[in-house]
Amino acid sequence: MINLLDLDPKALATFFAERGEKPYRARQVSRWLHQRFVDDVGAMSDLARPLRERLGAEAEIIAPTVIRDTTASDGTRKWLIDVGSANAIEAVYIPEGDSEERSRGPFADATSELDATAPNAAAPFSSDASTGRYRGTLCVSSQAGCALDCAFCSTGKQGFNRNLSSGEIIGQLWHANRALIADGVAAPWVAAGHAPITNVVMMGMGEPLANFDNVVAALKLMLDDNAYGLSRRRVTLSTSGLVPMIDRLRDECPVALAVSLHAPTDALRDRLVPINRQHPLDDLLAACRRYLDKAPRDFITFEYVMLDGLNDDTVTARQLLALLRDTSCKINLIPFNPFPGTEFRTSPRERILAFQRTLTAGGIVTTIRKTRGDDIDAACGQLAGRVQDRTKRKLGSRIPVVATR
Ligand code: SAH
Ligand code: SF4
Repeated sequence: MINLLDLDPKALATFFAERGEKPYRARQVSRWLHQRFVDDVGAMSDLARPLRERLGAEAEIIAPTVIRDTTASDGTRKWLIDVGSANAIEAVYIPEGDSEERSRGPFADATSELDATAPNAAAPFSSDASTGRYRGTLCVSSQAGCALDCAFCSTGKQGFNRNLSSGEIIGQLWHANRALIADGVAAPWVAAGHAPITNVVMMGMGEPLANFDNVVAALKLMLDDNAYGLSRRRVTLSTSGLVPMIDRLRDECPVALAVSLHAPTDALRDRLVPINRQHPLDDLLAACRRYLDKAPRDFITFEYVMLDGLNDDTVTARQLLALLRDTSCKINLIPFNPFPGTEFRTSPRERILAFQRTLTAGGIVTTIRKTRGDDIDAACGQLAGRVQDRTKRKLGSRIPVVATR
């Protein structure tokens, strides 16, 4: 049986063509799946009965199984999703309200994570008429665990179990939209007929570029007008720096790119982000500059986790400025989010602000990510899910960069 959620727009077209059906059938079914979020072929009422019966016999819609659904005090909502063999991944919904809500919190003067990738930093909310000043962002996972083992990341510490299928990746967006609509989410654009999720960040569990084919299939659905219809600038992929795959993404599906930098020298980055030993900073930045040719925005976002006493002093900020001199970019500082057993501490707020001032004075637009959902462990780097069977952990230099479908 084929899981219809596994098929990207091209694969869905092929599926119908192979069965002698007209191309518009694929578009019709795509809209049922990804715009009306049905989980039953029988509900696709504008398909002729024989086609529905045939579809029902040959295909199915395997929706995510949610094990836990938690909402934080700031409205952030986290779904723990079963992916079989006692493994679970997490998807996080981050609603962004009006400016009053945005002025609260520990970093009242900072802009939020999404501002760093907004088209115009001076206008933090999108001017898109369909969403006005609001956003509903979904943080999506790409793997059960992660093999790259970054020192400061809870997912990395879980080890790696397996790649998610494209259906499991797009299923997170499918489920979030469906659940939010069912719960009557109070978003003005939903009342106007738009889906609750307006932005996607591939920043959940896993390294998306290590599961390339399945992630790109899901990205294509996110962008397709008969599916989620998001513009490329509203879909951001974050990578720890798999250089060859950055080039492939540029060629095959150039969405907005965020790169987890975290250190301005190879010596420090080798320690924090072990993949740097294979793809050092010079190679990474060259790939970023190549990406800019096709990127939907004219800058790359560099994420930089603020670790107390490790990478947060003024000298380091100046090294960062020198490193990024020739690369059109913005920097998003992420206060380190602790998790049980970690040896790291987050930098004091004053030091984060001083770091930001140095970078801004050096001419790079620098934002500080607002921590969301930390009371339900939904903040960056806190997603642990449930990763069993970690036999594939620490593959050393044999990092899996090619997907198995
Ligand atoms: N694997 C991808 C995307 C997932 S992680 C990547 O590494 O880019 C999303 C972001 O959260 C990355 O920038 C990552 O470095 C950061 N992160 C990981 N652990 C964190 C933690 N404990 N506190 C703050 N940010 C963290
Ligand atoms: Fe994997 Fe990203 Fe965590 Fe590194 S930071 S271990 S690449 S999920």
